[in-house]
Amino acid sequence: MAHSEQQVYDVAIVGSGAGGGMAAYALTKAGARVVMLEAGPAWYASKNSTMILPAYATPGRGRSTRNREFGEHDACDGGFEIEGEPYTRAPGTRFDWWRGRMLGGRTNHWGRISLRFGPRDFKGKTHDGLGDDWPIGYQDIAPYYDRIDDLIGVFGSNEGLENHPDGRFHPAPKPRCYELLVKKASDKLGITCIPSRLSIITKPLPGRQACHYCGQCNRGCSVKANFSSPDVLIAPALATGKLTLITEAMAREVTVGRDGLATGVSYVHKPSGEDRHVRAKVVVLAASALESARLLLNSKSSQFPQGLANGSGTVGRYITDTTGTDVSGFIPAMVDHVPHNEDGVGGMHVYMPWWLDNAKLDFPRGYHIEVWGGLGQPSYGFGGGIQRYPNVAGYGKKLKEDYRKYYGATIGFSGRGEMIPNDKSYAEIDPTVVDQWGIPVLRFHWEWSDHEINQSKHMQETFRKLIAEMGGTVFSGMPTKEQQYGLAPGGRIIHELGGARMGTDPKTSVLNADCQAHDCKNLFIADGAPFVSQADKNPTWTILALAWRTADAITAQRKAGAI
Ligand SMILES: Cc1cc2nc3c(=O)[nH]c(=O)nc-3n(C[C@H](O)[C@H](O)[C@H](O)COP(=O)(O)OP(=O)(O)OC[C@H]3O[C@@H](n4cnc5c(N)ncnc54)[C@H](O)[C@@H]3O)c2cc1C
Ligand code: SF4
Repeated sequence: MAHSEQQVYDVAIVGSGAGGGMAAYALTKAGARVVMLEAGPAWYASKNSTMILPAYATPGRGRSTRNREFGEHDACDGGFEIEGEPYTRAPGTRFDWWRGRMLGGRTNHWGRISLRFGPRDFKGKTHDGLGDDWPIGYQDIAPYYDRIDDLIGVFGSNEGLENHPDGRFHPAPKPRCYELLVKKASDKLGITCIPSRLSIITKPLPGRQACHYCGQCNRGCSVKANFSSPDVLIAPALATGKLTLITEAMAREVTVGRDGLATGVSYVHKPSGEDRHVRAKVVVLAASALESARLLLNSKSSQFPQGLANGSGTVGRYITDTTGTDVSGFIPAMVDHVPHNEDGVGGMHVYMPWWLDNAKLDFPRGYHIEVWGGLGQPSYGFGGGIQRYPNVAGYGKKLKEDYRKYYGATIGFSGRGEMIPNDKSYAEIDPTVVDQWGIPVLRFHWEWSDHEINQSKHMQETFRKLIAEMGGTVFSGMPTKEQQYGLAPGGRIIHELGGARMGTDPKTSVLNADCQAHDCKNLFIADGAPFVSQADKNPTWTILALAWRTADAITAQRKAGAI
């Protein structure tokens, strides 16, 4: 029997990443007494980041470790495999699930590409008959995008592009030298290329300094110039005195009373291995899209034998990931360059939003292009191996000279596009496998359709044209149809969404337009699970906006005495 706290909180939130942090911020500011359960330990970039430390200063020289997949100094603890926390895949299918396990979740590392979904992204079915429309439109979420632009901060430029809404931007940094080459090639090929939009502040905000262009964003920013949930959302929520934060608390299930309402959350206190319980009048799941679906499926009771809020049978269904493929090349124009200032943020200064008309293409929806290259602080390894560059042979002085000569002469493009949900891609509870605490794990089924495979072909062809236009040579051959044109396996782009989608019909959706469970009115979800569809944009700005909107709905319903 789990030990239960006597105190009844107004709201219990599971997870402290983008969605959980935003919900905690908005609810505590509105006066609610909130308890937050977070599976990982506390971590604040402002205190714990290794920003500036050179990679060579540690014995591992910055190379990946088991927990720090993106390098020893990366901020985010987690990965595709976590010891003691397995997941499984149906035979013959592949889905890789990246999980952060620390305060702030994946917001400690993420690329901070912060794009609003456009009006058409909420109404995809109306436009091309595929997937489903959301029960809300751009106009419902736009005020929340404005609010997070102001609170969290994002740089960019107002361009007036269709379906790529502008925002309340901080000034964008200037393109670097190699990005000017990319812009020139894009202009020549008719590809829209504009300043990127990243949640990094270039003017100070209260308690936060403007970016000083050290380019170390993935390590976490010690001056709080970039967005991470612990420093930007959870610290101010704690400062209200209304937030009780319990770290190393792995939620097991949402508990319900005889009336079918949620009563709180049971969890494993990881340091002691004890089962504990917190009580609350409202429960908000924000454990990341698929973990929240797992919690619902594992919260079985006599009232909810298929899992909590799963009367529709759609929990775990309609899951998607962003499509992705990459091409990189060697650009002779960047060899032996004149030393010049390449300072900037830890990410690209330009990007290409979707620019084409699908009526003329063999796939629906679109993708955007991310750009990488340049002269960032050297880390473990060199450009995929010095042997890939022309006329490299030898060792000692000559080898050192070659490293200097070729450093910064690689440019790469990554496509990030929209997948259409399909019936063959879903998650369910594995009937036989449990994690180290005995909690049943997810089993994934996954299949790409021709929509995504054809889109990947288009990405590959486009990136190859761009590299050729810059006078470069591509490092790899064109992938074949059998290789799905280089399309990354499901989950690899780490934008998994859905699993408890919103909708107006309780027979086909889990949540209503306020991200409130149709079957359990004091249960809400504030991460990527409510998403009805992807877009050709990264999802986190929309997770944040939607979480704030959900928090406001909770506050309004609590005031009205409805929950
Ligand atoms: C390398 C990388 C680059 C990325 N780049 C971008 C980008 O540029 N733009 C973009 O929009 N998105 C990007 N993303 C994705 C982005 O990080 C996620 O969309 C976002 O963090 C999701 O927020 P979340 O709150 O749903 O989940 P998370 O940030 O993952 O937070 C979930 C939290 O819940 C906790 N948790 C999980 N299960 C439990 C449980 N049972 N009990 C208690 N706590 C639990 C976890 O420990 C974690 O702290 C990137 C991700 C990665 C890893
Ligand atoms: S580049 Fe700017 S935002 Fe990124 S870590 Fe450095 S100072 Fe912080």
